Amino acid sequence: MKELFRKEIKNVSPYVPGKPIEEVKKEYNIERIDKLASNENPLGPSPKALAAVKGVLDNINIYPDAGSADLRAAIAAFHGLESENIVVGSGGEQILDFIARTFINAGDQAIMAETTFGLYASSIAILGGVPVKVPMKDYKHDFAGFVAQINQHTKIIYVCNPNNPLGNIMTAKEISYLVEHVPQDIVIVFDEAYYEYAKVNPQYPDSLSILRGRPNTVILRTFSKIVGLAGLRVGYALTSKPIVSEMMKIKPVFNVNRIAQTAAIAALSDHQHIKNSVKLNYESLQLMENYFKRKGFEYVPPNANFVFVNVGKHSKIVFEELMKRGTIIRPGFLWGYDNWLRVSTGTLEQTERFIAALEEVLESTIA
Ligand SMILES: *Cc1c(COP(=O)(O)O)cnc(C)c1O
Repeated sequence: MKELFRKEIKNVSPYVPGKPIEEVKKEYNIERIDKLASNENPLGPSPKALAAVKGVLDNINIYPDAGSADLRAAIAAFHGLESENIVVGSGGEQILDFIARTFINAGDQAIMAETTFGLYASSIAILGGVPVKVPMKDYKHDFAGFVAQINQHTKIIYVCNPNNPLGNIMTAKEISYLVEHVPQDIVIVFDEAYYEYAKVNPQYPDSLSILRGRPNTVILRTFSKIVGLAGLRVGYALTSKPIVSEMMKIKPVFNVNRIAQTAAIAALSDHQHIKNSVKLNYESLQLMENYFKRKGFEYVPPNANFVFVNVGKHSKIVFEELMKRGTIIRPGFLWGYDNWLRVSTGTLEQTERFIAALEEVLESTIA
């Protein structure tokens, strides 16, 4: 019998999504759920985006602009680049798919951290490419280890900065080391999905200046996190013109819908919402860090809108028990960190409810 499915797909394990809020409410019969599991914006969507969207609803019988010209122009202006430096996607997810499909032939290699965003490896593997995973060093990317893995098959190097799920950054100095040691004909991807949160740290690198001097660089940003449009699916790449031209060839024609394009343009200049979101984020993190310190829990220094913490008990049980009490988090066992949790920041009330629930779970005999 012939094998119908592509062999590369058979080896891919399906993504395990977090449980949807509605399902949890029904299952545990609870009214209120705090979802601190997917790094969404607890302040909600950018109000400017919401207002702009209302104006386009009457026109959704019309296909969106296939080239997303207005959105690309707005992003270009925002970063001091040209539209020919921008590719927009249905979420950063789709940009990662474009990156893999633009560069990877079967047998090509891509280097990444062992504990990082899962899509890098899966997008490479479904094309017959080989993800090369470098073990973490002090919970960070080990760039010397990355450089040691470079060979003639290496096409892409992924840097998740801040890293998901760990939440910490690679500093400008560490990034300079990497850039100096990676040949020009290898693409370096800087995934900066949490850019606005991270850049308050003075050690956070300026990847745009790296792109200006190194054309084989791709910077990924998204509208899902800081501006609160995860449900609309818009992300983008900042890169050199030759890479944009190749990516455009494989882009699905109408990949960013009409509502998403309009909302993203409005959100880009919603400085107040961005400022409020960053402020709330660090207040929420502070509450959690204070609690973790009091308990003596090890946690990774956070520079995004989530924190990775070792609570000393198996995350599968802690996750279940927290869910019964109305808070959904992401259990670390999914990444092989059995006693760790990844917790997104929330409103201060959500954060306090999480801390109280965690305290109850850890102090009870259940967990
Ligand atoms: C959330 C996230 C993305 C992109 O998410 P989209 O919702 O698809 O834009 C990309 N990389 C990392 C590390 C993320 O956490």
